[in-house]
Amino acid sequence: MSNNDPRQVILVVDDEPTNIQALGNLLKDDYRIRVANSGEKALALLHSNVHSLPDLILMDIQMPDIDGYEVCRRLKDDPKTSSIPIIFVTARNATSDEEYGLNLGAVDYITKPFSPAIVRARVNTQMRLKRKTDLLEQYALLDGLTGIPNRRYFDERLDKEWRRSLRDGLPLSVIMLDIDHFKGFNDHYGHGAGDQCLQKVARTLSNALVRAGDCLCRYGGEEFIALLPNTEASGTREVAEHLRLAVEALAIPHDYSSVASVVTISLGMATFDPVRGSEIEPPLLIDRADAALYAAKKAGRNQVG
Ligand code: GH3
Ligand code: MG
Ligand code: MG
Repeated sequence: MSNNDPRQVILVVDDEPTNIQALGNLLKDDYRIRVANSGEKALALLHSNVHSLPDLILMDIQMPDIDGYEVCRRLKDDPKTSSIPIIFVTARNATSDEEYGLNLGAVDYITKPFSPAIVRARVNTQMRLKRKTDLLEQYALLDGLTGIPNRRYFDERLDKEWRRSLRDGLPLSVIMLDIDHFKGFNDHYGHGAGDQCLQKVARTLSNALVRAGDCLCRYGGEEFIALLPNTEASGTREVAEHLRLAVEALAIPHDYSSVASVVTISLGMATFDPVRGSEIEPPLLIDRADAALYAAKKAGRNQVG
């Protein structure tokens, strides 16, 4: 699927070509339409594309292999697909069918023959809701002050990258870093200046990470963490040193630091290398980076531990 098209995507699941065509014609100007002419095919399509799922599914109930109820049940049972809204579009017009479908988790139920205007209106309503939900989900993973991903995002991402690293036999590194004497900075320049400093540091650190898979998150107060897939220890040390220099080069005055006249950071790193037998789990990776950061603080700050 191309990502250049900003339109939301609808998957139409129906065994009758004429029904697919009617719904497609009705909605194709406003949405991108995907089709599956059986329940099996719909499930296969969704499971092979978990990273580009449709925004809405219009689902027939009576189909020869797996019926629409069962497809709905399976999608709702799987956390990867459970949040896709489903509207049943069906000839079964008994109240009990509608009740059954809605209880399975469908957001709406439309009976055939349908009124085109009403289908369009109901679809539009669900799509507006879907956009809002997507937006809220995005915000929930971002840090409000700096706009970079937050700890929740990091934990999810680390878990995924860790599993990928195991699968592909590639190293994975993290760098934990913390602003030096930031309490003194806040106490003397004020909380507003402290916030601005955090924003600048976050932006600088993010820009300093250039590889596509790398990511920088705010881990807590004045603590950040970088995740570097497919990066071994020596490369990670280079990146850490690069981050340290980038913050120093910002030259934000800090007259209350014992280390330098400008804002500096201390860093600790840890590498997970599945091939070299160091199969440590994500929490231990963080602990190690944290311990290295602590060592960097003890050794005088403004350095990589
Ligand atoms: P060290 O060099 O050992 O890291 O000392 P430190 O003073 O940087 O560390 P400490 O943990 O004692 O203090 C961290 C300070 O960071 C205290 C807190 O007020 C400040 N801080 C945490 N979050 C924010 C924030 O969102 N905005 C501002 N302005 N300050 C924050
Ligand atoms: Mg600090
Ligand atoms: Mg701290």
